[in-house]
Amino acid sequence: MLDALETDTGELHDETGDYHPSDVYPEGPSTGESDEDAYKRLAQKAEANAKRRGQLKKLTLADKYVRDPSARAAVIKRCRNKCESPDCAGHPTERTTAGLPILQVDHVKDLAKGGPDVPWNMIALCPNCHALKTYGENREKFRRLLAATARRLHEANLE
Ligand SMILES: [Zn+2]
Repeated sequence: MLDALETDTGELHDETGDYHPSDVYPEGPSTGESDEDAYKRLAQKAEANAKRRGQLKKLTLADKYVRDPSARAAVIKRCRNKCESPDCAGHPTERTTAGLPILQVDHVKDLAKGGPDVPWNMIALCPNCHALKTYGENREKFRRLLAATARRLHEANLE
């Protein structure tokens, strides 16, 4: 873990390599809890963890690279297995060999730039939308759209 923290410079925010089914479903498959309830619970947990780490105020170097599994799990519940980009041109319908949707949970504002590790700063994107956010010529505009979208979806799921 410490080695990983030291080698992770924070320069890359492409989390493609981080995509593991165990990250996406850290609490195992269905527990009978509704997606709405799970989102509220996980979002609150992520928020509490971020506060406890002081991440919403000032980041220490280590805090920047801590990834909270509950934050990621909350976004996976929220997205209902679909890309959350309002401009998505087409989410792949094929699943992974593990039967999971092909999605990447990404921070709208990067952790390395002070973005908090909480669901309202995170969004589930298909590989196309993730590439547009990372490399696209209109990525700044797209990031603003995604930031507003993540907040809107977060609020809507807390109601
Ligand atoms: Zn998409």
